[in-house]
Amino acid sequence: MWLRVLGSAAGGGSPQWNCGCPVCAAVRSGAGVPRNQSSVAVSADRTRWFLINASPDVRTQIEAFPAPHPHGDRSTPLQAVLLTDAELDHTLGLLLLREARGVTLYATPAVQKTLRDGSGILSLLERYCAVEWRAVVPGADMALAAGLSCRAFDVPTTKRDRFGTGVEHGRVVGYRLTDERSAGTLVYLPGVQALTSAVRAEIAGCDCLLIDGTCWHDDELVRLGLAGKTSREMGHLPIDGPDGSLAQLPSLGVGRVIFVHMNNTNPILLDDAPERRAVEDGGMEVAVDGLEVEV
Ligand SMILES: [Zn+2]
Ligand SMILES: [Zn+2]
Repeated sequence: MWLRVLGSAAGGGSPQWNCGCPVCAAVRSGAGVPRNQSSVAVSADRTRWFLINASPDVRTQIEAFPAPHPHGDRSTPLQAVLLTDAELDHTLGLLLLREARGVTLYATPAVQKTLRDGSGILSLLERYCAVEWRAVVPGADMALAAGLSCRAFDVPTTKRDRFGTGVEHGRVVGYRLTDERSAGTLVYLPGVQALTSAVRAEIAGCDCLLIDGTCWHDDELVRLGLAGKTSREMGHLPIDGPDGSLAQLPSLGVGRVIFVHMNNTNPILLDDAPERRAVEDGGMEVAVDGLEVEV
């Protein structure tokens, strides 16, 4: 199977339009490449593609990637969108797909409820096109296309539901993708608050893991005076620290680890930062937009 990183930054992208933090300033001066907001495309045949999350940058992301371009008419090789959660940076792009005859959406009941009763994105999209909803049940295998299958797993979070829908279970999931022909496995996990034993079991031994790289320090945004919450309080395990992802991941036996969903404040976005070197010295990678992985 193939996975293409369409966007490797967290909400707001890098640089973020209203941010003058040291990393955004450095990216503007060329010390790192700009990055779009988080989303990936996966396929087992390079003909039928599935989006995981639909970012507000989805239109530019599709234009920059020839594989899912239409041929001759308005039929699209994009089969469906799978959602990991209902955050705006992962779902606003759904509205930009409204020109489609229909959109097939894989989401947990909790995410669907938030999209309908909370942000209202689903109700709005349904005014423009048919939306076919497929319920994602954590732990259940779902056949996608051409031998590509996928299983969602629950990612516990204590982050408050911004839209107050009151649903706890299934608000955030990761996806474990398997290609039955190559037997390759890939895990996409752009939001994870803690590597619990259940989450570790889903990750362990996969060929490639794309994991939450939102913040380097747990108190990154607090230090910069940009927010009052730590990375963990926002639902994202930091990379640094004795119990950060950089320290925990090597024991999981993963073939290739790639950080995605970096917040614009994260110094690993900069090519020459010591934090970037620490990631690479640990045998891990930092995603850029357009990165393709084959497993
Ligand atoms: Zn996000
Ligand atoms: Zn910034």
